[in-house]
Amino acid sequence: MKERIEQLQDVLKEEKLDGILIHNPENRRYLTGFIGTAGSLLVTKGKAILVTDFRYTNQAKYQAPHCEVIEFKDSNLKVINDLIKRESLEILGFEGEFENYNTYLKYKEKLNIELKSTKNLVKKLRLVKGNEEIDKLKKAIKVTDEAFTNILDHIEVGGVEREVALELEFFMKKNGATDNAFDFIVASGERSALPHGVASDKKIKKGEFLTMDFGCVFDGYNSDMTRTVVVGEQPTEKQKEVYYAVLKAQEEAIKGIKAGMKGSEVDKIARHIIKEAGYGDYFGHGLGHGVGLDIHEGPRLSPKGDVVLEEGMVVTVEPGIYIPEFGGVRIEDIVVVKEGGCEILTQSPKELIVV
Ligand code: ZN
Ligand code: ZN
Repeated sequence: MKERIEQLQDVLKEEKLDGILIHNPENRRYLTGFIGTAGSLLVTKGKAILVTDFRYTNQAKYQAPHCEVIEFKDSNLKVINDLIKRESLEILGFEGEFENYNTYLKYKEKLNIELKSTKNLVKKLRLVKGNEEIDKLKKAIKVTDEAFTNILDHIEVGGVEREVALELEFFMKKNGATDNAFDFIVASGERSALPHGVASDKKIKKGEFLTMDFGCVFDGYNSDMTRTVVVGEQPTEKQKEVYYAVLKAQEEAIKGIKAGMKGSEVDKIARHIIKEAGYGDYFGHGLGHGVGLDIHEGPRLSPKGDVVLEEGMVVTVEPGIYIPEFGGVRIEDIVVVKEGGCEILTQSPKELIVV
């Protein structure tokens, strides 16, 4: 945590800021270890000060030992204004991509300092994951893999999508997950052609594709995986064709990933394969996204992904084909970018499974 604050302090110097006010919960957690839901973090060139209220003071002292913790009584901004004076700050940054306009007006009114909006300063630091972060991601992913193995015993013809989602959630929480990473997608039959078909009351029919996109939170870190199975009988030729086109695109993209590539170049590998298979019009979203304290973060693997991948970045690889009135397939794993390749963290099988 101390090194993360120091990295941000280097950024402050580059950005010519005397300090920055952090309120985004994930950024605050990343920099301090404090997981409370309220608190203002003021990082100056030499200090990290956490201003919080009675509910969180002890917790903040315990979780963020390298921060000076100050408890405010009526107004956090009054305390921050006093700190601006105490630390002789002249230019203060705030998280422009996160704070809203009314908050900005309040800062302008209450804080006696020149304000400067910043964008993604901490998010950029979060792009490359350290080993302890990757360990937490691995734990989240392990529970998710186990949930997939478990769910295969619970899927049946006549079952309801929402019940599948509920069983996934129950299993992961029972095995240590603190939360769902997002609203699970459980989409069967024609609904599997909806890339974001959140679980519904639909009953699963014989011979349908069933796409499940789910994940959990473990120690603040998110997992994210998608598998598509066929329910009740052997797949048709067309189902196999679509499935294996997606799988080939996914596996080739994973084989291609290495440090030094742009996100758009990885996207291109998968997009090209799906186009060659004749389904280019049916893959309408980006190939993948970064994952960590947020379920969707940088870098993006998409036609617009201009971030150059570095060792330690963690991304999903999730191509799909979605054909209206037929159904869809998506396969999603999480990988860690390495020099010369990547490490696949998701362990669940990818052959087309019939349940
Ligand atoms: Zn997903
Ligand atoms: Zn995803």
